[in-house]
Amino acid sequence: MTDTQNTTFDALVVGAGAGGLMTAARLTHLGYRTLVVERLEHVGGRASTRDIDGFKVNNGAIVIEVDGITQETFEEVGAKFDIRRPNPPILYRIGGKDVDVTGGGWGFLLSKLTRQGAKLVSGLGAARKDDGLPEDELSTADWVAKYTKNESVHGIFRNMCGSVFAVGSEELPARVFLTYFTRKSAFKKFGFCPEGTIGIWRSLAETITANGGEVWTSAEVLKLHLTDGRVTGATVDRDGRQVEVTAGFAVSDVGPAGTVKLVGEDNLPAEYRQTVQSGDRPCGMVTVNFASRERLVDAPGMLSFAKTRRLCYVANFTDICPEMAPEGWHLYVGTAVPKPAVGDFDEAAERELLLEDLREQIPGFDGARIISWATTRDEWPPQRAVAGFDLPNTTPIPNLWNVGDGVKEYANGGTTACAETAKLVVEQITRQHSPK
Ligand SMILES: Cc1cc2nc3c(=O)[nH]c(=O)nc-3n(C[C@H](O)[C@H](O)[C@H](O)COP(=O)(O)OP(=O)(O)OC[C@H]3O[C@@H](n4cnc5c(N)ncnc54)[C@H](O)[C@@H]3O)c2cc1C
Repeated sequence: MTDTQNTTFDALVVGAGAGGLMTAARLTHLGYRTLVVERLEHVGGRASTRDIDGFKVNNGAIVIEVDGITQETFEEVGAKFDIRRPNPPILYRIGGKDVDVTGGGWGFLLSKLTRQGAKLVSGLGAARKDDGLPEDELSTADWVAKYTKNESVHGIFRNMCGSVFAVGSEELPARVFLTYFTRKSAFKKFGFCPEGTIGIWRSLAETITANGGEVWTSAEVLKLHLTDGRVTGATVDRDGRQVEVTAGFAVSDVGPAGTVKLVGEDNLPAEYRQTVQSGDRPCGMVTVNFASRERLVDAPGMLSFAKTRRLCYVANFTDICPEMAPEGWHLYVGTAVPKPAVGDFDEAAERELLLEDLREQIPGFDGARIISWATTRDEWPPQRAVAGFDLPNTTPIPNLWNVGDGVKEYANGGTTACAETAKLVVEQITRQHSPK
């Protein structure tokens, strides 16, 4: 059935993930009448949360950076940013001890791992200089190998690559790693949302609505319409009815490959389609949420590891966010990056390796209750593009942009990168379109 209703907006945002919502919040704040259309029944996309027997289980992002561009976005648009920071944010398990390196930096961390730490610190120092970054071809693992064979050092770097970029150190260009850790915020300050990560996106959706925008959940954009090479609107399936929406411009949060499908391949130049196809290299991750009545992890936030098979980190939610579990329970997640993280991997074997790590690293894990398992990959990846291989946020269609983690700026990751894409795209929009 086709609805005759014509709904007119300045802006159409496809997808209510981190990138889409931060774009829409900025646009409504600036006075653009904005519609967000989300296929799922809830907001947050790959940074959302569901309730399982009273446990707030995140389906993706768990830690949100504070004092960075994400918080800046929330403050600019007037949305509540309810993130609690663990102190210290992260401990590293090195030689059986959980070490707090806060304040000590790289030198202190590496000195705990190897006597050769100083050489690596000088390598990091060289990377801080303008011409000190290595060529794109060198992987992070190969860069570390120039300084040391120490397995724990390799393990720490591998798990850092996994935690921030969702790939192994052999898959991440050293240039990306070093740019991130020497020039960017480097994820030093972060926290958890007590409602589960969905809490901050709900708050953003409320702000969008309060500012005159609309957020339609359980609604799917079926097709973007073009006239004379420009987006003019979309057909949206809303509760089984087809609604025709008119929009002055559109922003897609579904990733460049998804955007191509919505526009129709024939409407895009072959060169661009080729770029999108070759850049469509999502990563993979394996996570297990587990709970216990006894406290199993001493770290109040994240615990990372020097020597594991696959486990990158365990997050302990309930020390600072007891609301995330029924009373008397502790909730944790263990996260692993498979080998390879890009391309096909043996899911069952990867889960087994993660379990082996958890049994080894977390005394009492065998008695814990497994709340959920998730393998995120392909259409629902931890990162839609490997950092360093991102696609542009512009498209050949002048009033259509992409946001989100498929079009990150160089050497950025996760929801922080999504916030950055939203800001950059909205800056472009304001130069071309005025609110009606
Ligand atoms: C296991 C895991 C752990 C992670 N950990 C962290 C972390 O701790 N910190 C961090 O910052 N990042 C983390 N990330 C990464 C972070 O979750 C993502 O980078 C971010 O959520 C991506 O947001 P996005 O806006 O790019 O896309 P998405 O979240 O994918 O949003 C796109 C939305 O579009 C919707 N959609 C698709 N097609 C249509 C359509 N046709 N019509 C309407 N809607 C549509 C989808 O349902 C989805 O909700 C993690 C990811 C995973 C999977």
